[in-house]
Amino acid sequence: MEQQLKNRLSSLAVNLIQWDCSLAPYTSFGIGGAASALVTVESVAELERLLQFFVENNLNWRLIGRGTNLLVADHGFAGVILILGKGLSRIVLQKEEQSGQVVVQVGAGCSLARLLAWCVEQGLSGLEFVSGIPGSVGGAVVMNAGAWGGEIADVIAALTVVSPLTGMEILEREELDFSYRLWQNQGHNGAARMVVAADLQLRRGIKEEIAGRCRRYLQQRLEKQPKGLKNAGSFFKNPPGDSAGRLIEASGLKGKSCGGAMISPVHANFLVNSGQATAKDVLLLMEIVREKVEKESGVRLETEVHFL
Ligand SMILES: Cc1cc2nc3c(=O)[nH]c(=O)nc-3n(C[C@H](O)[C@H](O)[C@H](O)COP(=O)(O)OP(=O)(O)OC[C@H]3O[C@@H](n4cnc5c(N)ncnc54)[C@H](O)[C@@H]3O)c2cc1C
Repeated sequence: MEQQLKNRLSSLAVNLIQWDCSLAPYTSFGIGGAASALVTVESVAELERLLQFFVENNLNWRLIGRGTNLLVADHGFAGVILILGKGLSRIVLQKEEQSGQVVVQVGAGCSLARLLAWCVEQGLSGLEFVSGIPGSVGGAVVMNAGAWGGEIADVIAALTVVSPLTGMEILEREELDFSYRLWQNQGHNGAARMVVAADLQLRRGIKEEIAGRCRRYLQQRLEKQPKGLKNAGSFFKNPPGDSAGRLIEASGLKGKSCGGAMISPVHANFLVNSGQATAKDVLLLMEIVREKVEKESGVRLETEVHFL
């Protein structure tokens, strides 16, 4: 990036910018090269300013969460990565009705773990299914993250979003198009909308019961998922009526390696970084899986993991 653009970017950002920043530590895979710059954004106004600057100067940019569903290329990203800071991670109880219905507004930068711990503490039920899902609220919305028959779409009452063309908007539940592991985040003008906050519809419950459900979900997760090796959760989406893990296991690929990337011997839909994996290793393994599964079962697996 030219020095003049760097100077202007520095003048727009509240926090110090990290130049030429390795993205591997910002992902749960621990893989990936450097971005030209990484900016931690603290407010909606700052985000609006930055997006406008990127559009005006034709700069590449991408907002990421905790990188728990992300594979970053080995050559990195020629552009600016945005992450949401503490100013966009607050949790506020907005409305409580006598019936026990509660609306909580949470900043998209908040981690699911912190939000869930807060809900348990407050005796609020509805999010127990996210126990053990890493990542941020914003990432969970974009992915429509879910487990045990629940998904984030079930509790979304409204979203506050920012897009480079229209600035900030509030989208009500009826306007939101969620499907399996996907929120259709493009507005009518085609521009992607960045989530800055979510209003969640929860309900009053009994603290000990809520905590008990969270513990049970977490325990079941720990029994089924690989431990100790970096990964990005389920790599492929489950095809309708089947499970990607079952199809991969049936094609005999459990434990298969490609460089430092391996199909977990514990759960076949987890591609793990067994040490020094590169994005290239993961992509090669991904193609091996897709081809073998398609040959044996006729199903072309779609990726759940996003790419940068
Ligand atoms: C061990 C493990 C277990 C997992 N288990 C589950 C599970 O049970 N269920 C499940 O659904 N997922 C699971 N995941 C995947 C992942 O945790 C979720 O998809 C999570 O919601 C992603 O959040 P993130 O903040 O890490 O998003 P990221 O990976 O950072 O980003 C995901 C995508 O969203 C975009 N994005 C992120 N934040 C925003 C924002 N604020 N506005 C607009 N776009 C944004 C990014 O650009 C990217 O395209 C698991 C992952 C791991 C590592």
